[in-house]
Amino acid sequence: AAKGAGRNRFSYFTPALQVAALNRMRLTNDLRGALKGNQLKLYFQPIVHLQSGKVHKAEALIRWEHPQRGMVSPLEFIPLAEASGLIVDIGEWVFRESAQWVKRWRQEVHPNFQVSLNQSPLEFQRERGSYAEWLAHLQQIGVPGESIVVEITEGLLLDASANVTDKLLQLRDAGIQVALDDFGTGYSSLSYLKKFDIDYLKIDRSFTRNLAPDSSDMALSDAIIVMAHKLGLSVIAEGVETTEQRDLLAGAGCDYGQGYLFARPLPATDFDALLRQQSSVATAA
Ligand code: C2E
Ligand code: MG
Ligand code: MG
Ligand code: MG
Repeated sequence: AAKGAGRNRFSYFTPALQVAALNRMRLTNDLRGALKGNQLKLYFQPIVHLQSGKVHKAEALIRWEHPQRGMVSPLEFIPLAEASGLIVDIGEWVFRESAQWVKRWRQEVHPNFQVSLNQSPLEFQRERGSYAEWLAHLQQIGVPGESIVVEITEGLLLDASANVTDKLLQLRDAGIQVALDDFGTGYSSLSYLKKFDIDYLKIDRSFTRNLAPDSSDMALSDAIIVMAHKLGLSVIAEGVETTEQRDLLAGAGCDYGQGYLFARPLPATDFDALLRQQSSVATAA
């Protein structure tokens, strides 16, 4: 690439790579100001109990409204937050926001409402802070630990370092529940489910997408659901987009569904309005 640039002058990067690297640096820099500048927003997506059709839970999903670039996907900025260490402060903010909202929804909408939030592997394994501090905060604002579910991925359990086991115990001691996110995409080993105390299994949307009667993904989903139930876990299917997918999953005994069929992730106040609307309908029935 550096041909003609003269002797002793080498460029190891193609211009495209340089642009990408520069872009990441700029975005990381902007991210530092995003928390203070109120550019981070928490959205909520309903998790629907398939038998009753009621919204029992929600997943908190972070959004970044960048002043110049518009919405930046968490798939793009979470890795930058991890690499820069900003993930810890962002995660604390997500937790505190979630705790405030779940408090309100348990008081005003459903006494057992739960909010689940994502913890990336680096975030989960962080040295700073402990989940005992989360419990202290929850106690201070008056909500029990079981109002929060922490979503982790299979890769974490693969390591099964002492630190990971320790963090899982901290969650358990705080009464916070644990969900295994994106199940089926990683090194899914059924032994994890027995070894670690996990409450929910989230079937990845790559399985939901191709669900059809007698398909191999249907057979896999069926087997995952039966196995999870035998081990005492509840199952949440991700990426439910059609009524056919919902019905096949419900027929297979899947407990909960999440996906565009029910709703896209919504700004907190919009989600709040949706919940209240549904609960008044439910009361009227
Ligand atoms: P995830 O935890 O697996 O979250 C589910 C993703 O699927 C979300 O993408 C959601 O918007 C999307 N989704 C939901 N229903 C459907 C559907 O029916 N069809 C399709 N095609 N997609 C659907 P999103 O919000 O872009 O988040 C992407 C990932 O970013 C999340 O995947 C999670 O790993 C990460 N993430 C989001 N918020 C946070 C956060 O606060 N902290 C951390 N550490 N990670 C987060
Ligand atoms: Mg998740
Ligand atoms: Mg997921
Ligand atoms: Mg997924």
